[in-house]
Amino acid sequence: MLDRTSADRGLSDEQRMMRQSCRDFVDEVVLPFIKQNWQLEWSMVPEGRLPLRILEEAEKIGIRTLGVPEEYGGVELEKGTEVRTFAMIAEEIARGDSGLADKLVQNWKVSVLLRQLAPKHLQEKWFKRLVAEPQFLMAHCLTEPRGASDRWLPYNVPEAAMQTKAVKTNGGWVINGRKQFISNGYDASLYVVYANTNQKVGMMQGTSSFLVPRETKGFTVARCNETLGCRFMNNGEMVFEDMFVPDDHLLVENSALGSAGVYFRPGKIIQAAKNLGVGVRAFEATADYVQNYVQGGRILIKHQAVALRLADMATRIEAVRALLDRASQAVDDNAPDAEVLVNMAKLFASEEIMKVAQHAVELHGGNGIMLDFGIEKVLRDAVIFMHMDATVDISKFKIIKNMFPETAGKYAGPEA
Ligand SMILES: Cc1cc2nc3c(=O)[nH]c(=O)nc-3n(C[C@H](O)[C@H](O)[C@H](O)COP(=O)(O)OP(=O)(O)OC[C@H]3O[C@@H](n4cnc5c(N)ncnc54)[C@H](O)[C@@H]3O)c2cc1C
Repeated sequence: MLDRTSADRGLSDEQRMMRQSCRDFVDEVVLPFIKQNWQLEWSMVPEGRLPLRILEEAEKIGIRTLGVPEEYGGVELEKGTEVRTFAMIAEEIARGDSGLADKLVQNWKVSVLLRQLAPKHLQEKWFKRLVAEPQFLMAHCLTEPRGASDRWLPYNVPEAAMQTKAVKTNGGWVINGRKQFISNGYDASLYVVYANTNQKVGMMQGTSSFLVPRETKGFTVARCNETLGCRFMNNGEMVFEDMFVPDDHLLVENSALGSAGVYFRPGKIIQAAKNLGVGVRAFEATADYVQNYVQGGRILIKHQAVALRLADMATRIEAVRALLDRASQAVDDNAPDAEVLVNMAKLFASEEIMKVAQHAVELHGGNGIMLDFGIEKVLRDAVIFMHMDATVDISKFKIIKNMFPETAGKYAGPEA
């Protein structure tokens, strides 16, 4: 086992209790479920993959409605340490299953956005539904077939604008377009959708965000994407055809990408934390295996090269945790370096935990490849983090653009 001292360092008694109840939920509900039902991950019927009872169990420990204001029945966390608590819980749940963690964290991230941007009457309506319905999920829709990485940079020129468009009409907006690769996209009840509202300017000045209930006329879920990892989260693609949304469903007009920082910063922390949870799972399973599996007349850990790999895994995990802690604190403190640190934490976690997962699979030998043994899952789950919430290279761009805003990564048009 990894020493828990470092994971618990600096946590309040309340946070430690939350961590423990998440750990118990994972050990008693999630891991046994995964072990007994590994084939369900491969079901081609999205509805048949994760049984409803798992989200209902998550509900019992109050982790489905984090970020929802208390006045609507949600679980409001201490503001000064909210992001660190998100990270701690995301890590623990992803240690059990990264897809399950994905399902839940989208609700937290979108809740943070809505409580800042949605009108009161819509907060009341939707937060109350979210609290009342254990299967209620939310989704955040930026990515399009012809525009993803650039949403993170962005190049901010009219030709790179979003292709999903919203046009003002009487009493509301008409939206046409398509979004792809969206977490919870297949089975969410409520969506935040970004669309171009001014074609003459760059994305930062001409993108608006809208609240879109699933039952809106003109809204279709086109497909559920079959993914390599995180398979218990149903990633989806949506099409909007002359979809009318009323005026009060406009969240931010024209400057929506700037306002989305309230979603992105905790979002990157949560991504890194889920990634860390996958690494912790890889380490724990591997540490257990090498102390029990006999090869060449002795347990694996007695072979020195095996022990060295284990040390490498533990060191990478600690390094990710240290940077993640520092970045979470920066977001909670609203510090000026928060933007740089969250991208560093997300980037570093994605590269380091891939290496941890690779060691795990290699140290399991042939068993590492067998689906029913279950360790290959950490490699599949880890690789998703190279792409989710920006690719590795785009994360690097974000870091350097923040450090050198006047020069680095500028649009490659003609020099002045
Ligand atoms: C499991 C999963 C869940 C996701 N969930 C969501 C979600 O909930 N909401 C949402 O909006 N999106 C979501 N995404 C989309 C995700 O944010 C994008 O996949 C990601 O931003 C990369 O975009 P892309 O796949 O279109 O790749 P592309 O942008 O086409 O990039 C392809 C390659 O080109 C490189 N590249 C692209 N542009 C540049 C550039 N300017 N300079 C240098 N290199 C460049 C990239 O680094 C990458 O290596 C999800 C993706 C996955 C895999």
